[in-house]
Amino acid sequence: MNQLFDVTPNDTYFYENYIKDFLPDQFVDVHTHVWLKKFKSVREDIPSRTVTWPDRVASENSIEDLLTTYKLLFPDKEVTPLIFGNVSLGDDIEAANDYVKQCARQYGVPALIFASPEWGARELEEKILQGEFLGCKVYLSLSKPYIPADEIRIYDFLPPHQLEVLDQYGWIVMLHIPRKDRLRDPVNLAQMMEMERKYPNVKLIIAHVGRAYCNEDVGNAFEILSDTRNMMFDISANTNQWVFERLIETVGSKRILFGSDLPILRMRAKRICKDGIYINIVPKGIYGDVSRDVHMKEVSGEEAETITFLLYEEIHAFRRAAENMGLSRTDINRIFYENAVNLFKLYK
Ligand SMILES: [Zn+2]
Repeated sequence: MNQLFDVTPNDTYFYENYIKDFLPDQFVDVHTHVWLKKFKSVREDIPSRTVTWPDRVASENSIEDLLTTYKLLFPDKEVTPLIFGNVSLGDDIEAANDYVKQCARQYGVPALIFASPEWGARELEEKILQGEFLGCKVYLSLSKPYIPADEIRIYDFLPPHQLEVLDQYGWIVMLHIPRKDRLRDPVNLAQMMEMERKYPNVKLIIAHVGRAYCNEDVGNAFEILSDTRNMMFDISANTNQWVFERLIETVGSKRILFGSDLPILRMRAKRICKDGIYINIVPKGIYGDVSRDVHMKEVSGEEAETITFLLYEEIHAFRRAAENMGLSRTDINRIFYENAVNLFKLYK
């Protein structure tokens, strides 16, 4: 069978026992990437500022592949994705955004434009209006090439002149925060708090709970974030139950959104933390040579056979957090559906 990827009896068992009844029949996934290989650059003179393991899962993700993924992973559910591209420096950003726009029209799904920090305020405004996007996705890899990866700050790829126009329209911004200290980084936290104050109409979504994948990534972030009223957090690509619990405790159920980060979360992996570094444990051989990647470790035999999709692990971890924190069905429905629908409705 020429299927996008295999679903084993072990995966089905996991889904039926831990996921299916927890998820509402209909849900929204606010964090998905769609792109075609032909938009990607093959240049090697461009700095790589990000981890490399995601490239091993999918070299492209057409809208059709995304929709097929939902059918395979959530066969009895109805899923609406918020889609955006996957753009690095040197890629064809115009073609990538055009493709997302076409997919959104053809399939009637909401979309964000992938914004370049080089665009002026009016340029961003026109592009969003013209493409009927709900806002933008920004990414650190589009910062000026001379800035070392560890020194990139949020405003280097989400500049204030763009925040002003985003604030004016109340548009969505999907933000993956930079820097090696992740959520606990004081520069990140200072700029996040400043955005909260200066641009209160921006619908700011902090992706992956601020990349706090290990307990060590948290620091005093949630104390500082307890003063926020606007910013939202998506749980995509995160599998840390303890972090989810701290998030629920700090912001409640109205500012948490379900997101997957597909296609990379269809990776077969379970995640652990060791000395504050996250490691994806994967079945030996299926993602090529990963020996030089500190975030990857291979296992074989029986242990490998029990590994399911990282997206199932994310949802399972959130489920355990939700149960520990006493979230109700109403809360779960907000996080997986209503919060996102309310966010999108603002624009209709
Ligand atoms: Zn992402």
